[in-house]
Order: sequence, then structure tokens, then C-alpha cells
Amino acid sequence: MVFRAIRSWRRRRVLASAGIPEPLWREALEMLPFLAIYTEDEIEALRELVVLFLDAKGIVGAQGHEVTPLQRVVIALQACVLVLNLDLSLYDGFENVVVYPDEFVPGWEWEDEAGVVHTMDDPLAGEAMPGGPVILSWADVVAASDWESAGMNLVIHEFAHKIDMRTGDANGCPPLPSDMPAKDWTAALGAAYDDFAARVDRGARTAIDPYAAESPGEFFAVLSEVFFSEPALLVHEYPKVYEQFRRFYRQDPAPRARLLLDGA
Ligand SMILES: [Zn+2]
Repeated sequence: MVFRAIRSWRRRRVLASAGIPEPLWREALEMLPFLAIYTEDEIEALRELVVLFLDAKGIVGAQGHEVTPLQRVVIALQACVLVLNLDLSLYDGFENVVVYPDEFVPGWEWEDEAGVVHTMDDPLAGEAMPGGPVILSWADVVAASDWESAGMNLVIHEFAHKIDMRTGDANGCPPLPSDMPAKDWTAALGAAYDDFAARVDRGARTAIDPYAAESPGEFFAVLSEVFFSEPALLVHEYPKVYEQFRRFYRQDPAPRARLLLDGA
């Protein structure tokens, strides 16, 4: 209780002292057209979350990359969309978001079964590790935030991994609320994963990024991107996964996106 009281006191203090200037806020929203489905009240709620997120996390440049105020808001906004109806504490346990100008080579080492040490030198667009920072390539954040790349969203992908990691490894099983039976989640996602992996295996072209076939953890992260940025596609491809995500994220973006399209 005391903890909650401190939290809410801190929340009021931060919100009072660290607003986001209106022009900056508008500019960030314009970069993220998939947010057009949200009501004014929800956008205001997002704005509060963004202020609290930016107070709690450092967003730091790497390799000479200078993080601008707009970049901070654009990254925070997308991270906060996932927890709009959940809790920002899902992002507790790490301090920083590290931003590279472009793809980066992680350089971490791993040991194979024969005891040989390898260095990971494939360039990555993003990375999230348990207890560590979220790492993003700014070029890829930009590439994944316009209409052309509907269904792809790097920031949502990495922060979905962070939520998944609340229960250990990124294995596609995030912390479910008590009214969501784990067996329903596992059944829906497991069947969809098997189907998708089989399609990718036989070389079928898929509307969803084939990278989702990599592992159940990547499947959850990629399908979370689709859920938020092209929800009708997820309804069409895997309706049972959409239903689980709707209950988990406590959002129902598909009918809203449809209304928006009909109205346009
Ligand atoms: Zn991933």
C-alpha cells in the first residue's frame, strides 16, 4: 500500500513537471499513422504514459547517434501503446533504450555444444535481452513507422519481447491475467505457430513477416506488431490469436481500423 501511495505521488509529481510541448507531440503522432484509431481520451492517456516512461527510462544514443526530442517521443509512444490498458510496471527491471543510427552488430559471444566460442556478427535492427536495455536502429524505427510498412513495427516488436520476458525467457508466454487460462493461450498460439512455420517451410509467400516462424517468442513479437499496426490482417490470418491478444492487451483495434478505412 505504501508502495502504491509513493508510486501515485511520484506519478503526479512527474506529470506536473514534465509535459511534452504540443507541437512536438503532434509531430510525433503524425509519424505514426496507425495511432489514428485511438480516441482523444486514449491519446491523452498515452501522453501521460509517455511522460512517465521518459521519466523512468534513459534513451541514449550509441555510435555517435544523437537522440532528438522527437525521437524520444516517437520511441516512447510506440512502447506505451502496448501497455495503454495494462501497467507501465511491465517495463520495470531495465534502465535504458539504446539507439544506434542504423543496423548494429551485437558482438555478444556464445558457446556451442562443442565448447567453441562464436561471436554474433550478423547485423540487427533491434534487440531486447532479459534485464538489459532495448536496443534499436533508428533507421529501422523510421522504416517501420509509415503506411508502406503496414504490419511491421520494430519498437512494438522489441517491447513485446520485454513483456514476454516478465515470465523468464522470450518464449511467447507473457504474464497472463487470472481470467485468461494459459491452456487457451498455448492452444491458440501453438496451433497458429505450427501452421505458420509449415507455410514458411514450404516456401509459401506470407503476408505476415516470415521471421515469425523463427521461434514461439518471435511469433509473439511479430504478431504483436501486426495486432497493433495492421489488426485486420491478424483477424484474417489467425482469428484465435487475435482473440487472445484482444483479451491480453485489453484492446480491440480491428473494428476501429475497419471503421477508419470505411470512413476514408
Ligand atoms: Zn525478436
